[in-house]
Amino acid sequence: METRKETHHFRTEVQQLLNLIIHSLYSHKEIFLRELISNASDAIDKLRFKSQLEPGLLENDPEFRIRITADPAARTIEVSDNGIGMTYDEVIENIGTIARSGTAGFLEAVKESKGLVKPELIGQFGVGFYSAFMAAERVTLITRAAGSSLATQWESTGDGSYSIEETVKESRGTTVILNLRKPEEDEQDFTNEWVLRDIVKRHSDFVSYPIVMETERREPIPEKEQIVDSDGQPIKERTVKRDETLNSMKAIWTRGKDEVSDEEYTEFYKHISHDWSEPLTRLHMHLEGTTEYDALLFIPAHAPFDFFRPGSKHGIHLYCKRVFIMDDCQELLPEYLGFIQGVVDAPDLNLNVSREILQHDPLMRNIRKNLIKRILDLLSGMEQEQYDTFYKEFGQILKIGIQSDTENRDRISKLLRFRTTKSGEKLISLKEYVDHMRVDQDGIYYITGDNAASLVNSPHLERLREKDIEVLLMTEPIDEWMAQSLREYEGKTLKSAEKGDLALVEIDSATKDSFAALFTFVKEQLQDKIRDVRPSTHLKDSVACLSGDTYQMSGYMEKMLKAYGQPVQEAKRVLELNIEHPVLQKLRSLFAKDKDDSVLKDYSRLLLDM
Ligand code: ADP
Repeated sequence: METRKETHHFRTEVQQLLNLIIHSLYSHKEIFLRELISNASDAIDKLRFKSQLEPGLLENDPEFRIRITADPAARTIEVSDNGIGMTYDEVIENIGTIARSGTAGFLEAVKESKGLVKPELIGQFGVGFYSAFMAAERVTLITRAAGSSLATQWESTGDGSYSIEETVKESRGTTVILNLRKPEEDEQDFTNEWVLRDIVKRHSDFVSYPIVMETERREPIPEKEQIVDSDGQPIKERTVKRDETLNSMKAIWTRGKDEVSDEEYTEFYKHISHDWSEPLTRLHMHLEGTTEYDALLFIPAHAPFDFFRPGSKHGIHLYCKRVFIMDDCQELLPEYLGFIQGVVDAPDLNLNVSREILQHDPLMRNIRKNLIKRILDLLSGMEQEQYDTFYKEFGQILKIGIQSDTENRDRISKLLRFRTTKSGEKLISLKEYVDHMRVDQDGIYYITGDNAASLVNSPHLERLREKDIEVLLMTEPIDEWMAQSLREYEGKTLKSAEKGDLALVEIDSATKDSFAALFTFVKEQLQDKIRDVRPSTHLKDSVACLSGDTYQMSGYMEKMLKAYGQPVQEAKRVLELNIEHPVLQKLRSLFAKDKDDSVLKDYSRLLLDM
């Protein structure tokens, strides 16, 4: 059979990315090792999970390990694992084309920060493997997927193209070989055993598989075994090679809080999250009793770039007595807390669980319930500044909970923040809103749209402004659903400022009647566009606006859904006209003079356009 061999060019944005990594991140070079070890550890996690159902995948090699091999003379280091490996196509997909949306998003962010690349960025965008090019002038990856007989070799010097070909590899898993650049003068030598030990200890100590390295030591030879050299002198020392494990593998979540340092927590977080920056905060707990578990959870300081992309993996790693079961365990937390990263270790869990079973497992349900409570406690107890950071990143996702978690709706509603017509740039809570409410005010007013600046000036708010009533400005796509699910806060009804009758002004019936005939006429002219014509209770200065019924979608929502390609049944709206406005008074007298004046038809259309 012919073997495949190809050369591919990196996509332009990938090359840009590589250049950035090579030239902008040189002060953080050692990080490449952490990234490669993390990938190796993930690959073993994946195989461990898969082999529960397919033990044959382990191929008589059940001892998982990551191996580092350094050759100072050749200036190479290798990081190899006996994890799940990759097929030819997977290499192209994961390492080759890098058509992953992360790359484009990354470059976008770099542009935004005017070319200034903070190392955190790289981690956030999940381009960990490429960090190898910070230290290496050539990177070779040889991999064989568990259960497959063909292996693949990928190689690149990071300058425009890479080669990929089929090859053979005896053991399953992946080996990454780095041909290192010459070290700069003040730089550490990555082929030096002690340098490597130090980097592993600092960044990867808790990796739960042994990271082994063959070391050489001079040792005294016991007298009985000593032989003599050519001069007849006894040889008292010899070189002994042995495998040493560099990491302690301690599962830091099982230790007491006061036994773990901040640095250890941070490094652990970076390892499981692939984030390069420090987490915003953490929650470490040990629960005993009927529901027993350890949990170490983190809230990131930034949303990962692919957070809102379907299928992206984040979330909780599930362990049972320190044995990894699965990553991204969605059964443990609801979607609205999907930003939480961390580990849950539940000793009473059935080891051979499948995801389907997990959903209905009573133990899992209890843990989930308990975790939700603790996380909501954590959020509501945060200092203002920290909470603002959190909310900016994850407030939008938290709102999903208003709709989906009725049990905790009250608690979640206390965590919401909004800009208002009076708050300027500041965000306020619903409690603050209620505290500001006027004595005669009967509800919480809100308006939805895509930007706060234009909402503030919306004609729908004219009467509310006149009455000095504050209005929440809701500018996120999810807000309208959220507001409709929430319905009320502390007994105060949420009211859309653009829908229904606000009942803020009394319109006396004589005036109303004097416009009745005109309104009927306008309605007839526009009947395929609108549902009704009414005297407005919203407007004070403007002539006209469109409004909906209380449970009708807002115009903004319709626009949004259409933008997402959703079929939208456009609901006809009500045309509200300001009967105090001179234009309407003028129209009324025109109409009274001559009902058939053609100008009236034009005016009707004009009113709608306004
Ligand atoms: P990330 O790890 O953040 O996804 P990387 O660029 O480091 O980004 O890796 C891209 C993908 O390549 C990984 O998601 C994984 O599927 C695959 N990969 C990388 N290293 C290995 C490895 N040692 N074994 C198996 N697959 C790997």
